[in-house]
Amino acid sequence: MSGIPDTVIERLKAAVGPKGVIDNPEDMTPYLVEWREKWQGKAALVVRPGSTEEVAEVVRICAETGTRIVPQGGNTGLVGGSIPFERGDEVVLSLGRMNRVRNLDPLNDTITVEAGCILQDVQGAAEEAGRLFPMRIASEGTCQIGGNLSTNAGGTAVLRYGNMRDLVLGLEVVLPDGRIWNGLRGLRKDNTGYDLKQLFIGAEGTLGIITAAVLKLYPMPAERQVAFIAVPDPESAVELLAVAKQTSGGQVTGFEIMPRLGLDLVLKLLPDARDPFADAHGWYVLMELSSGDSGGALRGAIERALETGFENGLVADAVIAESEQQTMDLWALREGLSEAQKIGGGSIKHDVSIPVPDMPAFIRRADQALQQVIPGFRSMAFGHIGDGNVHYNPLQPEGADAAAFLAKWQDVADVVHGIVHDMGGSISAEHGLGRLKVDEVRRYKSAVEMELMSTIKRALDPKNIMNPDKTVTP
Ligand code: FAD
Repeated sequence: MSGIPDTVIERLKAAVGPKGVIDNPEDMTPYLVEWREKWQGKAALVVRPGSTEEVAEVVRICAETGTRIVPQGGNTGLVGGSIPFERGDEVVLSLGRMNRVRNLDPLNDTITVEAGCILQDVQGAAEEAGRLFPMRIASEGTCQIGGNLSTNAGGTAVLRYGNMRDLVLGLEVVLPDGRIWNGLRGLRKDNTGYDLKQLFIGAEGTLGIITAAVLKLYPMPAERQVAFIAVPDPESAVELLAVAKQTSGGQVTGFEIMPRLGLDLVLKLLPDARDPFADAHGWYVLMELSSGDSGGALRGAIERALETGFENGLVADAVIAESEQQTMDLWALREGLSEAQKIGGGSIKHDVSIPVPDMPAFIRRADQALQQVIPGFRSMAFGHIGDGNVHYNPLQPEGADAAAFLAKWQDVADVVHGIVHDMGGSISAEHGLGRLKVDEVRRYKSAVEMELMSTIKRALDPKNIMNPDKTVTP
């Protein structure tokens, strides 16, 4: 019993044809479980439309019958937005079959892709044409462009190229009543009223279904320099970033931080990885510079940044990658950390942003305050410090009971998010709100902001069928 009449189910099946239907419980399972198994939902049906017209037909049927829809991309989101609730009265609409590159225009530096394209495939298509699509995240082999847009994904190159919001020129969207909005314009200037595409970016599937997008392309970097740098503390990291921006003329592409504990866990996870330094240090930065110029100037720029850093006590030790393999090995130390945290036991996740210069003070304040809540917890703040976003994920005390630690999730989040709010930051820098923070956000956004979000939701989705009870309440 799904709670959805059989007649509606039959109409939905007819709309997408046999190739687009999954109704066998076993085959539906991957669409109903979050990758860490934090959420497990139920659905009446999974539909996989093969075209924008099929998406529109599914949504029209759902609008007419009041059937709720959960859009789903690669299902790598970390806040439960792509997972249906446990009631079983929702339909999952997976975009996976809509994976065509519709057009690539090297002169306009744009690529038009369907929402179900996997991010890595879009990067590859751009590369074949000698161009760069610069969005880079550890889930890029699975996540899809529609999911990236709907979460306004960030990642490790935001510092240079911006987040997904900055990388889009146009969208095609199926609205909650089934109409298709074709906004697939490749324009860099268009001041004809509200910028509607921005409404759907970061909306986590609550305002419509993104079916295609025009994305910006960039020149392929001709030179890349990557260094792994031991720094005494996060303050030194922030100062080093300013130095590197100056010496490279603004060519810093990635600037990631991790504590010693993070490196220890990655070394346990990756058998072939090794510590780049003979001595242990408190903190590490992975810095990448890139440039379209192949003249070799970046090597000088990274060396000057490190020299200045050594002279000013900002750098304790550093290695510069001498080959593509070494570059990949150094990045593996950073990218392994999402997975490696599991080795440390229970981990309470926060995805916060703070103005860059205040990030070190935030980490210290949160560390001190949490010692009162969970004495002996192990601090783990890592990630995109270059754009003021760290994943502040305290680990359980060594040898403690993971379940007992995780039971304190909300107490810990209250402390951490309270400090974030007090320091003018955001409780969700890049993962969105989904199921995880839909209630909590009300405590930190003003009543005016919340009312504006609800007004937009009611206007576009008056029947509240698009991913209801996630991200925003009408
Ligand atoms: P899903 O998880 O399927 O969906 C996410 C949300 O978007 C849901 O609310 C869903 O309903 C909605 N949605 C999906 N497709 C559509 C569509 N076509 N139209 C409308 N709504 C839609 N995120 C970052 O930002 N930066 C990182 O550095 C980062 N690193 C990660 C590392 C790992 C190992 C993992 C597992 C995740 C990471 N993420 C990161 C989170 C995640 O990969 C991103 O949020 C990604 O953009 C989600 O894409 P997806 O296709 O998997 O979307």
